[in-house]
Amino acid sequence: MSYNITLIPGDGIGPELTEATRRVLEASGVKFNWDIVHAGVDVMEECGTPLPPAVVESIRKNKVALKGPITTPVGSGFRSVNVALRKELELYTCLRPCKSYPGAPTYYNDIDLIIVRENMEDLYAGIEFEQGSEQAKKLTQLISEMGGQIRDDAGISIKPISEFGSRRIVKWAFEYARANKRKKVTAVHKANIMKYSDGLFLRVAREVAAEYSDIEFEDRIVDNMTMQLVKKPQMYDVLVCPNLYGDVISDLCAGLVGGLGLAPGANIGDTIALFEPTHGSAPKYKGMNKANPMAQMLSGVMMLRHLGEVEAADRVEQAIAAVVAEGKQVTYDLLPEPEQKRAVGTAQVADAIIAHMG
Ligand code: NAD
Repeated sequence: MSYNITLIPGDGIGPELTEATRRVLEASGVKFNWDIVHAGVDVMEECGTPLPPAVVESIRKNKVALKGPITTPVGSGFRSVNVALRKELELYTCLRPCKSYPGAPTYYNDIDLIIVRENMEDLYAGIEFEQGSEQAKKLTQLISEMGGQIRDDAGISIKPISEFGSRRIVKWAFEYARANKRKKVTAVHKANIMKYSDGLFLRVAREVAAEYSDIEFEDRIVDNMTMQLVKKPQMYDVLVCPNLYGDVISDLCAGLVGGLGLAPGANIGDTIALFEPTHGSAPKYKGMNKANPMAQMLSGVMMLRHLGEVEAADRVEQAIAAVVAEGKQVTYDLLPEPEQKRAVGTAQVADAIIAHMG
């Protein structure tokens, strides 16, 4: 049997990483029909849109996709293709495991964290009003009539957090915890300040937790959470977060296990799953055969598990772990600064992993 998978190489370092990952996944013995479709900055120049409809159509048809990172211009320009895909396909869960691989450059050696990030709401909803625009003026006026105060030279981003979205993501986190024999779920919030958005998220999280008496539940205010994760990450298990905190905490946890080069992820809906690393397109390394492909490959490992190819997933993951542990055929980011001259390239990491799989 072979699996129909949508493959989106992305831009920046994406094409090199997805190529290295494709080779490793094929070496696992699992058969794939790759439906290769393009999105991102290069496509924008050619097609006038960074997300041609063929990309979404392919994912809808195949139900499973592997995606490289895609650049989002900072401050102006087109909106995030990554966020658009999550919204368009209703991929409401972002699942990001952060796990220690011995040999990675980090102060911690026993981390096994799962971040469950709400993927559709919060400040990521894309409801924004530009400084000086008619809409911003109207909204400022309306808010002032309701007793609030916004300076008239403000830009405005709206933070919606719904009961439906909160319940759906917290339930997902508890179901994941139960299915994967996890002991504790921690809800992350700032409900002391944002009483009606984060406060709602926390209230719903408490209600859902009451339905899962077999799993421990606690909550943490997000600023305290970041400190606790740096000081004693071993105390935590599954973290369930609204969108923005989930984004920030994902990178923090990636740092705990040795960097973004080892942090995979998945965007999951009811019927569709799209696998991509936590990191971005690192444009400064584009085309240099320099970036670490392991986060992209570990996203591929998550995809293999999703497809039920557990044995192949284990073999690929063990080969990646062995290459990290040996420390000989690794990219610059997995080496201490003085040793970075002996780093190998993206493609050579793939070769080493394939050789380990025999
Ligand atoms: P980034 O993740 O691309 O890079 C952050 C840092 O990590 C950089 O120093 C980079 O050199 C390093 N890094 C990242 N991936 C690496 C890898 N595989 N191997 C070695 N080093 C690696 O974040 P950024 O610089 O903030 O963003 C760059 C672009 O990526 C932006 O346009 C951003 O919007 C986009 N982005 C896309 C996604 C996605 O596609 N899902 C996610 C995050 C950021």
